[in-house]
Amino acid sequence: MPSTRILLAKRLKLTTAALCVLVLSLATPLLLHQSRAYSLAENGVRSLDRFRATLLAMESVSAERGPANGALGADALNAPSLRLPLINARAESDRRLAVLRSLVTSQACPGCTVERASVDAVQTQLAAARKQVDGLIAQPLEQREHDAVLSAVNEMIAVIPSFGPLANASSAGVVRGDPNALNCVLVARLTAQLREQAGLLGSTFTAALTAHRRLSETELFAQERAKGRIEELRSLIAARVEHTPVGSAIYQRLASVYYDNGMSYMARVRAMALHPEGANLTAAELAAEYVPTMQPIVQFRDYVLDLAETEVKGHRNDALMLLVASGIGTAVVLYLLLIASVYFRRRFVQPFIQAADIIMAIADGKLETPVPHGEHRLEIRSLFHAILVLKENSIEKMRLEHERNILLRELETVADTDFLTRLLNRRAFERKATATLSRRAGTQAKQVLIMFDADRFKQINDTLGHAAGDLALQTIGRLCSEIWHQPDIVARLGGEEFAVLTRVDDAFEAVAAANELRRRLASTALELDGVRFTVTLSFGISLATQTGRETLDALLLRADKLLYSAKLGGRNCIVSDIESSTSH
Ligand code: GH3
Ligand code: MG
Ligand code: MG
Repeated sequence: MPSTRILLAKRLKLTTAALCVLVLSLATPLLLHQSRAYSLAENGVRSLDRFRATLLAMESVSAERGPANGALGADALNAPSLRLPLINARAESDRRLAVLRSLVTSQACPGCTVERASVDAVQTQLAAARKQVDGLIAQPLEQREHDAVLSAVNEMIAVIPSFGPLANASSAGVVRGDPNALNCVLVARLTAQLREQAGLLGSTFTAALTAHRRLSETELFAQERAKGRIEELRSLIAARVEHTPVGSAIYQRLASVYYDNGMSYMARVRAMALHPEGANLTAAELAAEYVPTMQPIVQFRDYVLDLAETEVKGHRNDALMLLVASGIGTAVVLYLLLIASVYFRRRFVQPFIQAADIIMAIADGKLETPVPHGEHRLEIRSLFHAILVLKENSIEKMRLEHERNILLRELETVADTDFLTRLLNRRAFERKATATLSRRAGTQAKQVLIMFDADRFKQINDTLGHAAGDLALQTIGRLCSEIWHQPDIVARLGGEEFAVLTRVDDAFEAVAAANELRRRLASTALELDGVRFTVTLSFGISLATQTGRETLDALLLRADKLLYSAKLGGRNCIVSDIESSTSH
């Protein structure tokens, strides 16, 4: 049973462990997937920060060109007043570049190697372009060569494409983290390009307005190219805005303020600048009128970036929720599994083992083993109730068996006993005597058969009555019981004839015992109804042969013959073959 108990407990543990492994093997890929999704979404949020910082820095560097161009076209006398906006614009560019740099440091973004290299490239390029601008501004206006000024302007313009790898890498990170943010990212990117082209369009007028001359062919070509690009961006942005929930009101403001007002203002200035003496307008006046029309572009870009931010953060939060929910779900399933295992063990396995122990104890006859009742529920309670019934049945069965054994023993005793003398009857004598004779006796022990018969018993019956005969027989039985004890076998063979098989060390002990009986009976006065009488006995004593095994019948026959001799010899005497002697 202990092995069964250990086996059951072990199997339950193994099953629970297997189920836990199964749950974990199903949950682990799910958790890994959710964790990866969350990590990507979190990276998307950070990428959007970098994307926004990139576009803002790009806008500032682009905006820095206005005051730079103003300073390049101005006299040294006016330089101090014109340099202030330039200093402010550069400070703003530097501030935004510093923000961008802080977002791509190896601590903030270990994987941003491309971004770090791009920021370095932008800053190096910007520093070189600014140096060129500053060098020219330091010279008197008349000494500034046209080509050198053009080169400085182009150097500033050339900084913008260097933001490309930064914008590409960060926008790709946003879309990887949340594919739904793709549209917003693209619209923001296109809008940033629109801001750049709008700025470039404005700057094509600067040189002509400063010199009060007609627009050159090169400038006209540059304007056409910028306008074409602006129109292209307009249709690209419009196509994306049309089918998306991107705020139409803000886009409408961009369309009306920039495309309608700004572009038509530019068309009017262009028309004026085609006169031989140029437009009657300063670059500052143009900037004052045109630059505010570009404001809705930037506002729309920021609006779209905010939309993207809401989207990616929502996506990141959803991914986090899913990850946490999956983790909690797995933990709950594992916990429930363990609880179920403990419950199953307590509710079923332990009662089952206890029931098995009790049944085994009952089977072993340990009926005092207590059976719990009322402690368990439902089927287990029924089981213990059944065991209780089994135990009660077993107790009843054992009681009945005990009674039957007593009855059997009594029956056996009755069947073996002569009712009148309380001695064994002939049947029991033959059985027991045969068994005793067949057993190998000790080397010294001798088996002696004593047969005796009441003398002239018929006469007693005839003269004193049958009751007197019975009294005589009972007296013989009592005296026999006083003289011989276990393992001697004393029996009434029938009528008034008796036999004793006794085991003695010396055969004469048997003769002495027989003689004692003979004398005691002969000297006992029996009395019935006031009449006194005595009874005598004649004995035939035969010694069983020591070698070989003599049958009981042969021994009885010999004793019977000796008894007959005693009768013939005058009765109330003993005849034995022990030493052919006769005792009176
Ligand atoms: P002997 O000395 O030669 O043995 O003479 P006997 O009269 O004893 O022998 P017999 O065989 O002629 O008589 C035996 C008598 O024993 C006959 C029968 O009535 C009597 N007897 C047998 N069984 C009982 C019994 O249970 N009760 C009584 N009262 N008498 C019995
Ligand atoms: Mg007789
Ligand atoms: Mg007789």
